[in-house]
Amino acid sequence: MLSERRVAIIGAGVIGASIADALACRGVRVTMFDMRAPGAGASQASAGVLAPFIEAKPGSPLLALGVRSLAMWDGFMAGVRQRAPGSEVEYARTGTLDVALSAGERAHLKTAAVWLASEGVAHEWLEGQALTTRAPAVSSAAAGALCIPDHRIVNVTALVRALVHAARLSGVVCVTPTEILQVDQAKDTVEVRIGDERHLFDDVVIAAGSWTRRVRVSGAPVFPVRPIRGQLLHLRWSDGPRPAHSIWGSRCYTVPWSDGSVLVGATVEDVGFDERSTVAGVRELLDAVSDLLPSAAHASLEAVRVGLRPATLDHLPLLGPLTSHPRVVLAAGHYRNGILLAPLTADIVSRLMLEGERDPALEVTKPERFEAGPRYSAI
Ligand SMILES: Cc1cc2nc3c(=O)[nH]c(=O)nc-3n(C[C@H](O)[C@H](O)[C@H](O)COP(=O)(O)OP(=O)(O)OC[C@H]3O[C@@H](n4cnc5c(N)ncnc54)[C@H](O)[C@@H]3O)c2cc1C
Repeated sequence: MLSERRVAIIGAGVIGASIADALACRGVRVTMFDMRAPGAGASQASAGVLAPFIEAKPGSPLLALGVRSLAMWDGFMAGVRQRAPGSEVEYARTGTLDVALSAGERAHLKTAAVWLASEGVAHEWLEGQALTTRAPAVSSAAAGALCIPDHRIVNVTALVRALVHAARLSGVVCVTPTEILQVDQAKDTVEVRIGDERHLFDDVVIAAGSWTRRVRVSGAPVFPVRPIRGQLLHLRWSDGPRPAHSIWGSRCYTVPWSDGSVLVGATVEDVGFDERSTVAGVRELLDAVSDLLPSAAHASLEAVRVGLRPATLDHLPLLGPLTSHPRVVLAAGHYRNGILLAPLTADIVSRLMLEGERDPALEVTKPERFEAGPRYSAI
């Protein structure tokens, strides 16, 4: 049953599409706008690793968000598969294997193992023959590896396609390619401008990834999100042992897919809105993966993907309503963990909009936390 509530979502990446699906399956009338095709921003470049215990520092708010969201993934996938019948989305608990190639890296991973033990997180330390037996693709120079079995991988392109399909089946209207640059809140409505046209909604969610600061909300400050480029290789394995886990080193990580391809990520480059792949970026990743997994030398290079990670100053998302414009909700700035955090983000936003429930996580993600502090300059 459709409610009369009308919500506009600006951006159809993994975040916008997850929110659209979550709201629409509860009866909200959603219109989702994207200036490109759905998923064609950072999401198409993503490696799809769900690994909070590698990505976040011990005790950090990001770790708390990541652990919460990881626990939601099985239910999230079950819901998407149910609402988008026939969609094939590869999602697997492959675990991660974080490999040390030097004594310094070994000491660092050993410290991480002690911390995981103190937190009660399942893990395993592997070295010597045990490591070779478990992961024959890893370099024989490895000084040990930390395995975290609960980490997972998901095919993000297929996921966004399924989310959009599910959302459409629940009544979401997808308007592409359409860029929204101006939003104005009146008393009980929000006006979205498309060229000279004005469209009224009850609420607006801005999920425009790295481009979020280009969307202006009259009377609100520029949103402090900026692009950090990531390049990622798509290899096809031919000879030699193929990795079965998501294998991490200090200079790259790899993601194995059941079709025989392996992703190698990723560069971290502060180059503005430049979405080109570069010789230097590709070379950096090829060198790193050859040191980590020597049989990568025989693989073919099928594609290079490039995406702009939406970064904030503290690397936490900008999530929550604007205090000055409570009908405008930001859901952006997920930086390196937008895929991991998609289920939690959709859950927080949909509970906020439908039940008025303020999740405690909003205290660390609220957009106004940068209002008095340092900001990225406007463009
Ligand atoms: C190489 C690489 C590897 C990554 N690996 C991982 C990983 O393993 N795990 C993980 O969790 N995260 C990973 N990430 C990060 C993750 O991809 C991002 O955090 C996530 O995709 C952000 O999703 P989003 O929907 O906010 O942004 P996007 O996917 O960029 O979507 C934003 C959308 O908004 C649209 N848009 C922008 N402005 C407007 C406008 N004004 N009007 C209309 N539409 C607009 C864009 O066209 C775009 O489609 C990786 C990123 C990169 C680049």
